[in-house]
Amino acid sequence: MVTEADLLHILKESHAFLSGHFRLSSGLHSGNYLQCAQVFRFPGHSETLSRLLVEKVRQAGVVFDQVISPALGGILFGYEVSRQAGVPNIFAEREADNRMSLRRGFSIRPGESFLVVEDVVTTGGSSLEVMRLVREAGGRVAALGCVADRSRGKLALDVPFFSLVTLDFPAYDPESCPLCAQGLPVVKPGSKKV
Ligand code: ZN
Repeated sequence: MVTEADLLHILKESHAFLSGHFRLSSGLHSGNYLQCAQVFRFPGHSETLSRLLVEKVRQAGVVFDQVISPALGGILFGYEVSRQAGVPNIFAEREADNRMSLRRGFSIRPGESFLVVEDVVTTGGSSLEVMRLVREAGGRVAALGCVADRSRGKLALDVPFFSLVTLDFPAYDPESCPLCAQGLPVVKPGSKKV
C-alpha cells in the first residue's frame, strides 16, 4: 500500500519539487513548483504513480475507452496511465494561436469516453480546454486525473476528479505577488506560452 507520504517522498527524492519564483502555466506566480518531468525521468516511478491513479479511478467505478492529455506536461503520465489501463492514448496540443487542438491525425469519435490526464492541476485551465475539445467532438469525459492537485479546492468540475497528492502551495496574481514585490526574477518552467 503506497501512501500519500510515500508519493511525496518519491517526488522530493526525484527533485520534482522546486523553490524560487515561478510563473505557473495558469499565469499565477508561486514560490513553489512541481516539475513532474523530473519524477517521470524514472520509469519505475511513472509506473507506480500511474498504477495508483488507475486503481483510484477504477475503484470509483469510472470506466473509459481512452486517455487524453494536454501537451506537454500531461503526455508522459497520460501514456503510462493508458498503458496500465490497457487502453489507447492521445494528446492535445496548442496551435500557434494558443488554442488546444488535436493534431497528428488524432481524432475523437462520438460516444467515446475519455479519462483526461494531467500532471499538475492548479486552475485546471489546460484540463478544462481538453474536456471541451472532447465534448465538442461528441466524446464523453469520464473523469479528470492528475498527479498533484494544487487547486486548493477552487476547481469547479462536472466530472469526478482524482489526484494522487494534494499540495497547498500558495499561488498569487502577478499584481499581488510578494515575490514580484521583492524584485525576484520570475521563471517559467511550464510549457504553455503566456
Ligand atoms: Zn511574482
